[in-house]
Amino acid sequence: MWIDFFQPIFQQHKTREVSTMAEFYVEINAQSNGDHVVHKSDCAHLPAKETIQYLGAISNCNSALKKAGQLFRQVNGCTHCSVSSHTA
Ligand SMILES: [Zn+2]
Repeated sequence: MWIDFFQPIFQQHKTREVSTMAEFYVEINAQSNGDHVVHKSDCAHLPAKETIQYLGAISNCNSALKKAGQLFRQVNGCTHCSVSSHTA
């Protein structure tokens, strides 16, 4: 499982980040509905790192979505790690 391989990297990131900030990624490949999904770095559903773009350490999901929106026209929060910013 790739998640076991990457887990230590994510935990290192966690210890370095400011308490209120989270690191966000956006999927480079769109979903079938055209959405590019935004994830936090510790999301269990984060895809392989070759298929995601790092957005930076961001204080909340909505700011992360705005940043992702500069890269992709259609973005959406992950239903698992960014529930507050997910739109159906
Ligand atoms: Zn996620």
